[in-house]
Amino acid sequence: MDDRLRLDGNAAAGTLGEVFSFEVTTAHYACEGCGRIDQIGAAMVYDVRGLGTIVRCPGCDNALIRLAHNRGRYMVDLRGTRYLTTG
Ligand SMILES: [Zn+2]
Repeated sequence: MDDRLRLDGNAAAGTLGEVFSFEVTTAHYACEGCGRIDQIGAAMVYDVRGLGTIVRCPGCDNALIRLAHNRGRYMVDLRGTRYLTTG
């Protein structure tokens, strides 16, 4: 990559703020494990007390999204999804 085009993460704040402020239950995902495409609202959710939330694919049990909350911050791991679309 051309270093002249590189910006810090603050440059993406507006765009990321728009992307992550949608109705999640109607958002569609594609599972990295089996390729299933479905709405997040139809996935399986496990609340792990004190640790966070795991959203799993009903087709193959792959962990689509791992969400942890610690010290007032959220950590979101989307490695189990190929993509996530808004609404
Ligand atoms: Zn799957």
